[in-house]
Amino acid sequence: MTHPIYNFSAGPAVMPQAVLKEAHAHFLNYQQSGMSVMELSHRSALFEQILADAEASLRRLMAIPDNYKVLFVQGGASLQFSMVPLNLAHTNRVAYIDSGSWSQKAIAEAKKHVEVTVLASSADVNYSELPQVNIVEDTYDYVHITTNNTIEGTAFLELPRMNDKTILVADMSSNILSSTYNVTDFGLIYAGAQKNIGPAGVTIVIVRDDLIQTQPLLPTMLSYDTYATANSMYNTPPTFAIYMAKLVLEWLEAEGGVALMEERNRAKAERLYRFIDESDFYTSPVAPTSRSLTNIPFLTASPTLDKQFTQEAAAAGLVNLEGHRSVGGMRASLYNAMPLAGVDALIDFMSVFAKKKS
Ligand code: PMP
Repeated sequence: MTHPIYNFSAGPAVMPQAVLKEAHAHFLNYQQSGMSVMELSHRSALFEQILADAEASLRRLMAIPDNYKVLFVQGGASLQFSMVPLNLAHTNRVAYIDSGSWSQKAIAEAKKHVEVTVLASSADVNYSELPQVNIVEDTYDYVHITTNNTIEGTAFLELPRMNDKTILVADMSSNILSSTYNVTDFGLIYAGAQKNIGPAGVTIVIVRDDLIQTQPLLPTMLSYDTYATANSMYNTPPTFAIYMAKLVLEWLEAEGGVALMEERNRAKAERLYRFIDESDFYTSPVAPTSRSLTNIPFLTASPTLDKQFTQEAAAAGLVNLEGHRSVGGMRASLYNAMPLAGVDALIDFMSVFAKKKS
């Protein structure tokens, strides 16, 4: 193999090498404490600093205004499917945009608690394009959108406009920090860490502070108020995952921030999409105007060839290219930590494979 292993997994996903090396160098003895970060009390000054640094870095990267809280929660993005309606649905009127399997899951959870209006759906075209919602005229407690559809490979880079009384809530799990969004366009943003932020185990919630309310009947651990009041330390937070997130966030800043990442991600996605579109061996199931920069699905002419592709690619050091088990085919996830060289290695392999099988 002439190149390192390139990991195209949709998540947990590739992390920056520099971050892994830094964590490795300090693994046994963090800041002369004689302990690993894993062994630090979450109430220690050293860990409190880690948490504060992670938050400060995220605030700088996303230009998060002071009237938004940053919360570190467990339970994955999936728990947010429940916490969002439990905390924000006060009048029982909420709306969702159905752009893929993860939106569907969010809708199904919300329906257990509140009445859900689906404003638009692209289920009828297998989510190969984004459902169109330009302006939300009616009033809802919130409208929920999945900014990047990890499985189907579509992304809302432009957002629907809300009326004054309705806030936008986003599941940004698979494109937070890889495309630029304006935090003030949202009442709440959530994202599982395991794609662009760090290892699995922590979920970031960014929420406007006037939306956080005390709700005595809500289980303590499901209330945003608990996390906001206790600085995400009501109970033991996932300390090591937060430490790794801090390192990734600081790496992102040192690299040049989100705008630069977006530029790089666009270059990576365009290069791969150009190759797929010009090829008569591979096809894209995604409409050109809806394409994600971070998750790129593609197909050959048959499931048998797809299987051979992912097996031979793995043997050549290009791993985790299988599409999600619900859709099959292939999917290349090109998060921030995937270098352009990884995309070039993939294109080289695709080219050789196509010649061999044509
Ligand atoms: N939303 C999106 C857009 C996702 O991609 C995923 C996970 N791949 C989830 C939600 C679920 O995240 P978790 O596994 O952290 O619950």
